[in-house]
Amino acid sequence: AEPPRTNFIRQIVEADLASGKHDRIATRFPPEPNGYLHIGHAKSIVLNFGLAQSLGGTCNLRFDDTNPHKENVEFVEAIKADVRWLGFDWDDRLYFASDYFERLYDFAVELIQKGLAYVCELDAEQMRAYRGTLTEPGKDSPYRDRTVEENLDLFKRMRAGEFPDGSRTLRARIDMASPNINLRDPVLYRIKHGVVHHQTGSAWCLYPTYDYTHPISDALEGITHSLCTLEFEDHRPLYDWCVANVSVPSRPRQIEFSRLNLEYTVMSKRRLTDLVGEGHVQGWDDPRMPTIAGLRRRGYTPGAIREFCERIGVTKSDNLVEMALLESSIRDDLDANAPRRMAVLRPLKVVLTNYPEDRDERMEAGNHPKNASMGTRSVPFGREIHIDRTDFEEEPPKGFKRLVPGGEVRLRNAYVIRCDEVIKDAAGEVVELRASVDMETLGKNPEGRKVKGVIHWVSAEHGVSAEVRLYDRLFGVATPGAGGADYREAINPESLTVLTGCMLEPALRGVEPGERFQFEREGYFVADPDSTPDRPVFNLTVGLRDTWGK
Ligand code: ATP
Ligand code: MG
Ligand code: MG
Repeated sequence: AEPPRTNFIRQIVEADLASGKHDRIATRFPPEPNGYLHIGHAKSIVLNFGLAQSLGGTCNLRFDDTNPHKENVEFVEAIKADVRWLGFDWDDRLYFASDYFERLYDFAVELIQKGLAYVCELDAEQMRAYRGTLTEPGKDSPYRDRTVEENLDLFKRMRAGEFPDGSRTLRARIDMASPNINLRDPVLYRIKHGVVHHQTGSAWCLYPTYDYTHPISDALEGITHSLCTLEFEDHRPLYDWCVANVSVPSRPRQIEFSRLNLEYTVMSKRRLTDLVGEGHVQGWDDPRMPTIAGLRRRGYTPGAIREFCERIGVTKSDNLVEMALLESSIRDDLDANAPRRMAVLRPLKVVLTNYPEDRDERMEAGNHPKNASMGTRSVPFGREIHIDRTDFEEEPPKGFKRLVPGGEVRLRNAYVIRCDEVIKDAAGEVVELRASVDMETLGKNPEGRKVKGVIHWVSAEHGVSAEVRLYDRLFGVATPGAGGADYREAINPESLTVLTGCMLEPALRGVEPGERFQFEREGYFVADPDSTPDRPVFNLTVGLRDTWGK
């Protein structure tokens, strides 16, 4: 495999190994199990697992599960499956932040004992008013100077369930005048009654905040480099404060990088949850979703997603990545690796009037034009075939190189035919063509004339009927929801086109879900889990060429 591409984080980590600051590096990928992973998470997974893998370190999978009401075990399992599918393994290093609830509680007691935390009775609205603004310092809470004994007693009673939700919090005692609002006595614990946590059940009515839990979890696991997205840059002083003030065994370093933003989609879990919940898509694994499960069902390979993550790089500058870049990663992979097949998506019957009725002819066709080692398959020919409707024009525009009345075209892997007759129904719609075969043209050019066009076909007798789902961008604008608009307004109502009665060459009968092919002249397709042995269902992964912005 190619050596990993470098970036500023890899350089920091390599320098820390070279200087002897660390003998081994340890990273973690910390998803919250409140939704499925998306392509943005893949960037973080490739960075964290990839760094550890290539530098002989370790990467933990840690569920950041401090916010129980939106989390569940289905999401936990889906996340594990997606990380594995992407090609990474946490071995025995699977953790839950909730594993640390008891120790986090003890560390909070330690903070109280050191005079660094207190129980506050301001409600959310009052707390906001006391917090101040970017330009104005905050005001001390009237509860800030309770005695250690009083705080210890109240905190214990908070845990025991004596107080209702929202009536008390535990806050760090740092600095209400700090220019960094995150240091103005941030909340460390809140009360939540009546939630059943997917890991700890009803054991707790007191839940630690992310800002308190994350640094301590990192330190307990001996994480050396804690990589997170840029919006946590302002939280870093609080991260450092937490690990400096409780008795944890190590001092991890937080480093921020810019999150992935991708054109023509949305990436926040809240919006993805709404797309699923409101029925704009058919589920988390809908092939139009930017989720890992959606991309898998769309036909993306793990290698193409990893390659995309390498191509976008890791920096500190926010930007918007073009969809074309994601698509070129999968197109490059499938161009090299997907076997070629013929599939007629909009069938038009052609009767080859001079072709012998009882002839049983099979064409030997290469599975890949540039890779003979992929072998060949045999494609049955016949007197009645289907071609694509768009490959015939009664009144062709200039430059049309496919079939026209009286004109010739080559059938891919087979003969040259000439269209002799156009048959229409009462409404004037073309329903069938009659054509004649030049039997001298198998594997050689016809005598004395040039036939430019080549079209694909499927024998009517042998073809397999299939459903094909064509996907277009889920949103009609590059940045849905920009400028305060509702992102739903940008949903493309034509993002899915279902074609039924498509005709596939018989080699495609009985494909397994997940098998990928190039349908010649159409694009790359993957068999969907909805397929049955007799009736395949295919999803369009990506077209043959980049058509974005066209
Ligand atoms: P969301 O805002 O979509 O809910 P999140 O950051 O809250 O995302 P988490 O499950 O907490 O989602 O994310 C797990 C890890 O993945 C975090 O370290 C986070 O920084 C990283 N991550 C999430 N989204 C992106 C993204 N778009 N680009 C890069 N990394 C991301
Ligand atoms: Mg998060
Ligand atoms: Mg989140």
